[in-house]
Amino acid sequence: MTTPLKPCPQCAATVPDIEGPVHPYFAASPGCWAIYGQILEREYSDTAFWANHGQTVDAYALQHPGDGSRRAISSVMIHLVGATLLFQHHAPQSQRILMLQRLSKITKADPSLIPRLSSPDNLGEITVTDIAPLSKAQDHLVGVDNWARTTWQAWSAHHPVAESLIRRISHDA
Ligand SMILES: [Zn+2]
Repeated sequence: MTTPLKPCPQCAATVPDIEGPVHPYFAASPGCWAIYGQILEREYSDTAFWANHGQTVDAYALQHPGDGSRRAISSVMIHLVGATLLFQHHAPQSQRILMLQRLSKITKADPSLIPRLSSPDNLGEITVTDIAPLSKAQDHLVGVDNWARTTWQAWSAHHPVAESLIRRISHDA
């Protein structure tokens, strides 16, 4: 018997309709969350798959804007700023981490700096179901880069908000 499939309510990937654990606020379906877990498992267990792990996390978070809670709203913004630093500013990883730490600090002090962003209707054509089958490291790395880039582009209406936060955290250096 084959497992029936069902679209994830967030990223729209067609995934097995199963019961199982889910993330506390991403609102992914259990089938989608399980496939993401396999991708992370591969990145954690083989360093050849690790190089752009941060983009995997950005892509998944941006395709799962979540349940509307404060944590979900912050997650979208942090990953949107992270992806913008990478794709627009070509920031190296060390600088990206430093800037995101700064963003986290100033938004803890003033949560109103992080508005709730309306999710795009289409969150990008590449999803976990495209990445999970990529069993060669080089294919995985290229796939993750495309996944993160197309997802970031799907949020383009909100890139100006990310840019204004980047200006702010640059000045607070
Ligand atoms: Zn999903």
